[in-house]
Amino acid sequence: MAAPQGAPAASRLLMSGNEAVARAVWESGARVATAYPGTPSTEMLETLAGYPDLYCEWSVNEKVSLEVAIGASMAGSRAFCAMKHVGVNVAADALMTLTLTGTVGGLVVAIADDVGLSSSQNEQDSRFWGRFAHLPILEAADSQEAYEMALYGFELSELFQCPVLLRMTTRVCHVRAVVAAGHRVDRPATGFVKDPARWVMVPGNAARRIPLMYERERRLREFSEDSPLNVLHPGTDRRVGFVASGPAWLHVREAFPASPVLKLGLSHPLALAKARRLAEMVERLVVIEETEPLIENELKAAGIDAHGKDILPRFGELAPATIRPAVLRLIGEAVPEPATEAHPVFPRPPTMCVACPHLGVYYTLSQLRNVIIAGDIGCYTLGAGHPWNALDSTICMGASMGMALGLDKGRAASDANKKVVAVIGDSTFLHMGMQGLADITWNRGNVTVLILDNRAVGMTGGQDNPATGRDIRGNPAPRIDFAKLVEALGVRRERIRVVDPYQLPVLFKALREETKIEEPSVIITNQPCVLIGDYEKLNPYRVIDEECTGCGNCFEVGCPAIHLTRREKVVKPSGKEVELMFARIETEACTGCGLCVQPCAPEAIVHLAPVIKPVVPIRPL
Ligand code: SF4
Ligand code: SF4
Repeated sequence: MAAPQGAPAASRLLMSGNEAVARAVWESGARVATAYPGTPSTEMLETLAGYPDLYCEWSVNEKVSLEVAIGASMAGSRAFCAMKHVGVNVAADALMTLTLTGTVGGLVVAIADDVGLSSSQNEQDSRFWGRFAHLPILEAADSQEAYEMALYGFELSELFQCPVLLRMTTRVCHVRAVVAAGHRVDRPATGFVKDPARWVMVPGNAARRIPLMYERERRLREFSEDSPLNVLHPGTDRRVGFVASGPAWLHVREAFPASPVLKLGLSHPLALAKARRLAEMVERLVVIEETEPLIENELKAAGIDAHGKDILPRFGELAPATIRPAVLRLIGEAVPEPATEAHPVFPRPPTMCVACPHLGVYYTLSQLRNVIIAGDIGCYTLGAGHPWNALDSTICMGASMGMALGLDKGRAASDANKKVVAVIGDSTFLHMGMQGLADITWNRGNVTVLILDNRAVGMTGGQDNPATGRDIRGNPAPRIDFAKLVEALGVRRERIRVVDPYQLPVLFKALREETKIEEPSVIITNQPCVLIGDYEKLNPYRVIDEECTGCGNCFEVGCPAIHLTRREKVVKPSGKEVELMFARIETEACTGCGLCVQPCAPEAIVHLAPVIKPVVPIRPL
């Protein structure tokens, strides 16, 4: 991440929803912006870090991120915090009491829901948090709205002295559109005012804040009815009317351009009177919302008859191609056949990058027998796939630690001889894994933990974390030493190893030895992600065709630079038929990591050009 470059001049700018939010935050005069990276929200902070005159940070996790923003608001600064939908689960402890204390400087929390599951472990609907925490929710449909709502969110927050949730979805976060942007307005912090009755949430103080929270919600409900963000478009075709929010609004306009629509920008608290007026205008009312039936249920609870999830899916995006046939069926009209069949896309399962340092780890784990492997969230979750099949679980950030301990403590007699391994990345370990390791050591778990330190939050694009030695703007920062950290968490020094993951025999030996010893142990791998500046490309390899026996061992590494040239069936002297797989290396892509060289017994893989720098010993496992 580069240092602040200065903001593009006020103008009509082509921006993704995330970039538009960042622009609005900067223009609002916000002085503090925080986030933990997570698709689809990451670019909000990445973009903000390029703007001058505000403090930005990648926080260690979403809870800390929100707490930093709360502190800034308490000091009288406008503050912003971004996270993906599952991040709110982590931040919820702070959020659910923040709703009682309220805010001073405007505080906007942007939550990016991964509708359609492009890169997440679930598809939870963050609009529940507005209802749970009694907070207003703004829902943007495109980049311009994302910009305007983020700016407006600060005003709304200061008007009601509470945080405002800006709900985005993957579609809005990543699609680019023209945004009419403005200028930054300087807003100095108003200063911290000591007020323990408000900020110290012991039971007596909290009890006095709860009625204030409900009163605020009542005022917000009235406000929502009159809000220009909740617009009733009268339409001309009264057979069916729609209530829609977020990008679903645009999809409804495309599918039924003549129908009346209540477009909700301030979607919670719900503008019930407006919805009732719409219901009286039309023969049938349909709610189009991604993903859960929240608005639909609230309408029904208010006695307004509405369709929604009885005719539409409860998961995934509600594109015009989904909405139109469902509603046509509802109103008894014929559903036209699609004009053209979509061209089938060749299946391409996700895989790791060429020469990824995780390849050696999963190759080695796949060679181990009698092992249960608890995985975690990151690029390395791909270790569950082909050809490694070397992960047995993934639940949430940091879960590998606690789950591994549970697998150890709860093991059946039939699993008595199985080793338990936990695999976690550097950033995920710092996010929520450290506590789990403390639990393992404290409770004397028999678990071997692999910390894959690739010096980046790889899955979201190589952002920095507290162990990379750089901050969000690329400036030098204190760097956490994993070996010292895990020792401080209770792992004996003798049971901590730092290993080069490209050295397969060394890694294999370390894993075999540590899993045999019945106490907590940690193996830290220490090579960088191939997509960050720290990675050094080496002399590439090629396969000598005549030497390749088709054994297929190199494919087990899983490097995408290794291609199959041909298959051949042969019958061995034992009478067993085997399939040979002959290899070729895409030398343009090969970075010379040397991983595939090691399992190639005939030494058919050689450097493309004379060796410049020795990499690893070339020998089979
Ligand atoms: S490991 Fe070596 S011999 Fe076997 S397929 Fe690959 S290149 Fe050919
Ligand atoms: S040496 Fe082998 S494993 Fe490493 S990048 Fe090249 S092809 Fe991939």
